[in-house]
Amino acid sequence: MSKVIIIGAGGVGTVVAHKTAQNHKVFTDILLASRTQSKCNAIAEAIGTKYGNSPLQTARVDADNTAELVELFHQFKPELVINVALPYQDLTIMDACLEAKVNYLDTANYEPKDEAKFEYKWQWAYREKFEKAGLTAILGCGFDPGVTSIFTAYAAKHHFSRMDYLDIVDCNAGDHGKAFATNFNPEINIREVTQKGKYWENGEWKLTKPHEIHQPLKYPNIGPKESYLIYHEELESLVKNFPSLKRARFWMTFGQEYLTHLRVIQNIGMARIDPVIYNGIEIIPIQFLKAVLPDPGELGENYTGETSIGCRIKGLDRQGNEMTYYVYNNCLHQDAFRETGTQGVSYTTGVPATIGALMFAKGLWRKAGVFNVEEFDPDPFMEDLKKQGLPWNELFNEGYEF
Ligand code: NDP
Repeated sequence: MSKVIIIGAGGVGTVVAHKTAQNHKVFTDILLASRTQSKCNAIAEAIGTKYGNSPLQTARVDADNTAELVELFHQFKPELVINVALPYQDLTIMDACLEAKVNYLDTANYEPKDEAKFEYKWQWAYREKFEKAGLTAILGCGFDPGVTSIFTAYAAKHHFSRMDYLDIVDCNAGDHGKAFATNFNPEINIREVTQKGKYWENGEWKLTKPHEIHQPLKYPNIGPKESYLIYHEELESLVKNFPSLKRARFWMTFGQEYLTHLRVIQNIGMARIDPVIYNGIEIIPIQFLKAVLPDPGELGENYTGETSIGCRIKGLDRQGNEMTYYVYNNCLHQDAFRETGTQGVSYTTGVPATIGALMFAKGLWRKAGVFNVEEFDPDPFMEDLKKQGLPWNELFNEGYEF
């Protein structure tokens, strides 16, 4: 029996709304709140049509405004907030949680609006406050970060005596039929993929030019795809929580069309995050661009193909022998659309966020403080991945690149 608030009614919020509604025996009361209430209402209506009745209530909230959030939390009295708005809102929502005594979960770490930089330092600074308040904050509970971090914790717990090398590999072999679209919020996505590359090696961070390092990697059921080394936020907490790692990298596939569009967008200044004056008013080019690009939440209908995201780890097995291990999930965009009306990237993020909330509601992931997901027991989460729509596979000592 648990009362939850979901904040954010985009692609990921839609999936969380569906999955919490499917688990309504645990989530007895669900409030979907976002900046535009009509979007929440449309999701609640679709869920009502699909499942016969909708356990969802809806509300409007500006999550940049802590006082508004606190008022909403006092009215609804949730146990947990599932934050699937944007990374900019993480700290205001965490502040409201402390004030109204509500637990917290998100899928992306805080990022200041005026600087394209994501780091855990801002949220880790809340540790003592959450500890003192006796509240749990679960950080980064999507797919990557999220499942990739749990895959790593599971490998450490069950298969390795020492992990030396970690490669997180993220392939989207899907086709949405558009010349250019991003699979999650365009502003956040473009900020993420245009920054410098960064990876961990021998105790220090190594920097690269954007997309400087790339190679074809083979993905199960998909085959080889050009994969680019980029910096991704889970690397920061994983190298801290698994200090035996000599090297940790993150690879993502991009098509040539996507990269060409990205280069043009940057070259003509449309990726700028500083204000420019247009017809006497201030606009931020990347926010304007978002308004004209396809909505990631609505790409699902014509999306074909699949995603494949996993962890490749090399080290010593429990007996001290060299071992390579690859744990991954493949998700079909069409399956995600049939179930929730969204594409695979929203689905693979919203399902883990819901499982994290289930872990909290069942008392399995509950301790006072601020934690990255790999700091919890991975086993019940891994079990639920299979039950909630994201089954995973393991390969030992097979011929993949390590
Ligand atoms: P969308 O842009 O589709 O949705 C964001 C939602 O948040 C929108 O409904 C938006 O409202 C709402 N929102 C924005 N600002 C506010 C505000 N101030 N107050 C209240 N609501 C607000 O994004 P996605 O659904 O694609 O992504 C959601 C989150 O998931 C992002 O943080 C993203 O980084 C993260 N993510 C994580 C992944 C992972 O694997 N860990 C992968 C993919 C995404 P409105 O409709 O009015 O604009």
